[in-house]
Amino acid sequence: MADIDTSPSDANQAAQRIEAIRERIAHAATLADRDPATIELIAVSKTRPAQAISPLIAAGHRSFGENRVQEAADKWPDLRGADKLKLHLIGQLQSNKAGQAVALFDAIHSVDRPSLIDALARAMDEQGRRPDCFVQVNIGEEPQKGGCAIADLPAVLDRTRDAGLPVVGLMAVPPLEVEPAPYFALLAKLAARHGLAGLSMGMSSDFETAILLGATHVRIGTALFGERA
Ligand SMILES: *Cc1c(COP(=O)(O)O)cnc(C)c1O
Repeated sequence: MADIDTSPSDANQAAQRIEAIRERIAHAATLADRDPATIELIAVSKTRPAQAISPLIAAGHRSFGENRVQEAADKWPDLRGADKLKLHLIGQLQSNKAGQAVALFDAIHSVDRPSLIDALARAMDEQGRRPDCFVQVNIGEEPQKGGCAIADLPAVLDRTRDAGLPVVGLMAVPPLEVEPAPYFALLAKLAARHGLAGLSMGMSSDFETAILLGATHVRIGTALFGERA
């Protein structure tokens, strides 16, 4: 890593913020009669420079999320160093970047269509690396968003299984500015119907609700790092 000036106060602030979020996660888990250790806090570091991220690694945090393959390829090989980190891809993925994504990420949350499933399967076979996969569902049926249509989920899941992708759960981003709980509940119901244990749902503004409704992976950016530019 190039000269990075991380003052002790920055590191303390990051450590304190993550500690506060862990406490909120634990509180929500307790309300839901769940073990907090079963909920993974993904620190969403998209758009953040290395010097904003390294204090969290120094504080012992190990799970991070990025939404662009290129940005992650630029930042993470240096940042990750010898630490055993878990890097999650949470943004839309083009099929022609599947190979790079498989090489770089430990989990891919945006599997949503046959062409991408086939490209990921080929890349996994070639590289002998099999990142965990989440199938993304367009839970609010919004045309501008990624994710498969709810009606297409059974066929998409069949395709992932036929292709040999290790699917561990479902992921969704509910519509903005409406109550997210019904969408989280729907995603949980779909996951249960298909026998999937993983539920990647909940962001800075709604992760406690997501945990009450079964989230196993919450993706938190602004509550940790502040507003994005
Ligand atoms: C940016 C992003 C997040 C984090 O959002 P915050 O509101 O900053 O916590 C979570 N999930 C996805 C898919 C994102 O793109």
